[in-house]
Amino acid sequence: MCGIVGYVGGQQAAPLLLEGLTRLEHRGYDSAGVAVLGPTGVKVAKRAGRVRQLSEELPKRFAGKLGIGHTRWATHGPANDVNAHPHVDASGEVAVVHNGIIDNAAALRHRLADQGVDLASDTDTEVLAHLVARSGADTLEGKVRDALSAIEGTYGVAVMHADFPDRIVVARNGSPLIIGVGDKEMHVASDLAALVRYTTTIAYLDDGEMATLTAGGFTTYRQDLTSTNKTATTLDIDPSSYDAGDHDSFMHKEMVEQPAAAERVLRGRLDERFGTAHLGGLNMDARETRAIRRVKILGCGSAYYVGQMGAALLEELARIPADAEAASEFRYRNPIIVSDTLYVAVSQSGETIDTLLAVQEIRRKGGRVIGLVNVVGSAIARECDGGIYLHAGPEVAVASTKALTNMFLGFALLALQLGRVRDLSIADGKRLIAGLQQLPGQLAEMLEREDELAAIATSLAEAESLFFVGRVRGFPVAREGAQKFKEISYRHAEAYQTSELKHGPLALISEAVPTVAIVPGDELTDRNVAALHEIAARRGPLVVVTHADVDLGDVEAVRIDVPRNERELDPILLTVPLQLLAYHAALRLGHDIDKPRNLAKSVTVE
Ligand code: GLU
Repeated sequence: MCGIVGYVGGQQAAPLLLEGLTRLEHRGYDSAGVAVLGPTGVKVAKRAGRVRQLSEELPKRFAGKLGIGHTRWATHGPANDVNAHPHVDASGEVAVVHNGIIDNAAALRHRLADQGVDLASDTDTEVLAHLVARSGADTLEGKVRDALSAIEGTYGVAVMHADFPDRIVVARNGSPLIIGVGDKEMHVASDLAALVRYTTTIAYLDDGEMATLTAGGFTTYRQDLTSTNKTATTLDIDPSSYDAGDHDSFMHKEMVEQPAAAERVLRGRLDERFGTAHLGGLNMDARETRAIRRVKILGCGSAYYVGQMGAALLEELARIPADAEAASEFRYRNPIIVSDTLYVAVSQSGETIDTLLAVQEIRRKGGRVIGLVNVVGSAIARECDGGIYLHAGPEVAVASTKALTNMFLGFALLALQLGRVRDLSIADGKRLIAGLQQLPGQLAEMLEREDELAAIATSLAEAESLFFVGRVRGFPVAREGAQKFKEISYRHAEAYQTSELKHGPLALISEAVPTVAIVPGDELTDRNVAALHEIAARRGPLVVVTHADVDLGDVEAVRIDVPRNERELDPILLTVPLQLLAYHAALRLGHDIDKPRNLAKSVTVE
């Protein structure tokens, strides 16, 4: 996670670095720091807290036209001033920022301590600064290479050194780094969001690659210092898509963008005539598609829950056994990789390390993986055999909304395409296409009801603990709803299968514990309504996310009637009100919507 920025050129570095860090703060925000190289050597300013506090307290004299900066998401040692990056060596000549985890940090710290080095912080990162300083190589590139060859783990790093005042050396292994080419100046950042204001001419570093940035240009090379000759490309992106505009938070902006984002992911991919989808990026012909016997979906957090929704779609439409698993667990159980299974990796950023490592494990064992990824050119997108880009546009808020909706739609397209080479009839294909075409408008309809949902959220925000329940198609909706609620409102929210309540958790139901129940009008409505009675009989307050034609009998409940689509596609429409409930509950409780406590966007550490 965390954000890295770097600058070398003709301007003062500190304001540019701080601006870049503000853009990256969603990726880690427990502490922040910058280092610049000026006439009197390396200067560092860093502290626990937000970038704004760092900016306010920046020393008056902080001049330098080269610098690096960092927002941290602590893995080793608490979030305090000392542990904030950049870290320096004993002489203060080397400064390092790092994203990731150094697995052998403890051993390296002991070794350095035995050699008489005083370690100032508790971090794993600090060893890098000392290792660079102690290398005997005569170039900064050689020193950084020596340091990196001693460490095990993952990193994106940026290094500056007083003896080499014209350059920044960066390296990537598992954590993203992007070089931005300006006019007689160079930028580097861990995310495009920090670059687009300055340049859209960029080069992505690959794992195992290093680069040197000077005001005049950049060079890329492997760790043995042989060149990789990378050149930059100019992206066609609108920098304003990285701003929150009139919205009070990125989450709000991104929720409201869902109808437009949904249109983008569907555009050009629906074949009305044959009732199917066209996903050119899968890189599979009809014969290969038919040979698939199982689908295994891997994701983390919300991407895992939407993966469960996707598995249900695939089973229903394509009649292929499908299931979703947390990518963070999958890799550690020596998974059996089967050649007729299609593996699907789901990640907004395309940098989620747990998912990326699962992809690598599958490929190592000869499996075929496709990616459902939002960020074009990201690590997962590049590692996969093919995939579906989500076209949601930049997503900044930690709580995923529009990317998640587009993941669902990506699965719907995949299910349609796989279904139509199997048993799904052309009529059913056309029925689903009509449903998909209606969906953006229905998302907009749902979003227009924000005031109604805000009022319901206000009452839910009072509760210390709540349940989200659903069955079959509705269960992943409940899981995602609970996840959103807890991540931004910090209330305990537990998801359960409605059918399982009576096997245990019903014991917890009381006036103080509300339940948000997902009750679509489908073949399970009666069973769901029976469970609502059981909750109501124990005086549990109920909010029911349902369809207008569903009869709840005499159950006392607050209803949220969601527009109806085809039953297979309903889960995503049932999910949107849960986003708004979580958002308004968090707003009511006064939380920072885009930067929830302890979390960060794009989890690039294991
Ligand atoms: N492992 C480093 C630390 O705890 C870097 C964490 C990060 O990626 O922000 O300081």
